[in-house]
Amino acid sequence: MKENILIAEDEPKLAALLGDYLKASGFDFFIIAEGTGVESWVRENKPGLILLDIMLPGKDGMEICKAIRAFSRVPIIMVTARIEEIDRLLGLELGADDYICKPFSPREVVARVKAVLRRTRDGQAIQAQGLVLDEKTYRATFHGRNLELTAVEFKLLQLLVEHPGRIFSRQQIMNKIYQEERFVSDRTVDSHIKKLRRKIELIDPQSTLIQSVYSVGYKFEPDL
Ligand code: CA
Repeated sequence: MKENILIAEDEPKLAALLGDYLKASGFDFFIIAEGTGVESWVRENKPGLILLDIMLPGKDGMEICKAIRAFSRVPIIMVTARIEEIDRLLGLELGADDYICKPFSPREVVARVKAVLRRTRDGQAIQAQGLVLDEKTYRATFHGRNLELTAVEFKLLQLLVEHPGRIFSRQQIMNKIYQEERFVSDRTVDSHIKKLRRKIELIDPQSTLIQSVYSVGYKFEPDL
């Protein structure tokens, strides 16, 4: 059965474009262009995932997200027009599963939708670009060959792969990966990335899976 994606977006061209890309990737979609009707539509139609714009006429996306979380665990990707808002949104603990910033490429959105659906379904290994990551066993393979990752390398790779296209700064990586370790520096992150790349390149010397974004951080390039 096709997964139905709700696009809550008041820019008609953008909503239609997203719909086209989702459809081409095998999803059904439905567009709602204002905030007040979203919650009741979700109750009635139980979509597989919601792309929720924050600035919607009628009711804003943050309120809608909180309201939906009171009755549903449906995956929600919040869409914001301001990248600096993402940290603030994370602090509010709205219960959203991911955040994406405008302007974005529709392909990136589709990659995120797939990634969120994958990780919100229990027990499924993460697969992308020849990589298979099994969270339960911490085992990672690339084109069928074992990557032999340490726990930290596994978590680092998982973080990047689960958010294809998203750039993580070294600070964000440190906050997410090394919570229990006290002495971590930018160089620790760089050194783990280096080891991770070396292991990937042992299997595919041409691999560009993990990309450096100059003076910003790192990202995983989605399969497009
Ligand atoms: Ca909007």
